[in-house]
Amino acid sequence: METDLADEDMRIEPTRAKQLADNLLSVTNRIEKIDGNASSRYEVRLVAVSKLKPANDILALHQGPHAHHDFGENYAQELTEKAALLPKSVRWHMIGALQTNKCKPLAEQVPNLFCVSSVDTAKKADALEKGRGAIVEKQGLQSQLRVLVQVNTSGEAEKSGVEPDQAAELCRHIRDDCRNLKLAGLMTIGAIARSQAADSQDAINEDFFTLRETRDNVAKELGIEPSQLELSMGMSSDFESAIAQGSDEVRIGTTIFGDRPAKKDAELTVRHHE
Ligand SMILES: *Cc1c(COP(=O)(O)O)cnc(C)c1O
Repeated sequence: METDLADEDMRIEPTRAKQLADNLLSVTNRIEKIDGNASSRYEVRLVAVSKLKPANDILALHQGPHAHHDFGENYAQELTEKAALLPKSVRWHMIGALQTNKCKPLAEQVPNLFCVSSVDTAKKADALEKGRGAIVEKQGLQSQLRVLVQVNTSGEAEKSGVEPDQAAELCRHIRDDCRNLKLAGLMTIGAIARSQAADSQDAINEDFFTLRETRDNVAKELGIEPSQLELSMGMSSDFESAIAQGSDEVRIGTTIFGDRPAKKDAELTVRHHE
């Protein structure tokens, strides 16, 4: 991965910028079409998933006509590198599987890290807590780091996340023992097969159902209102059904940025020519 950055690398190509802005707008319109039916709810947050896409794609959307702020990354190192290059007004979301030893440096090096969406052990929470604590002290940063507890709703062995019945315990730990973290809600990825089976807005996706049920349980055990815990669910292939089932946040990559290169081929600071 390239870390040195010549000014030239951050040049924004007008045709690419237009394409990205159009893609973003079309996703936003699709979200509003569904979300508009649920007028009592807050607006759904759209996290644009920019993993393996170059930093100037992000800059184009951030400085573009829709001034998009929320961007999601899967790899701690990639997020840290991009955060160093891009304006501090970007709100970074770490959405990928997280290694415990990467948690503290990530929280410590990225003051504008807005949310870590993939917390699934108390150890990771504690490491994030330490990192955020260090930056709070050093930079006088006041705000807590938002975290979501990732739940393995599909029961697939290879998926990260806590089992649904373990979620409350981890949530309680974050709320009670991590003062630099804010327990913001729950996240799931879900099984691909189910998202394909339930790709129409009316079909029930079991993963989304389970996440919502888990949220309601956690709220009960913590003695809070369910509305105090957000649900992050829905990606390119299934975000409409996720919103119909109560999602507060969707994470969308391919539909906005196009297909991703293989990880080994990704060059983060220059645009790929299709
Ligand atoms: C890559 C990724 C996404 C976005 O997936 P798309 O299908 O490209 O929209 C969302 N959430 C997580 C956790 C991801 O890793």
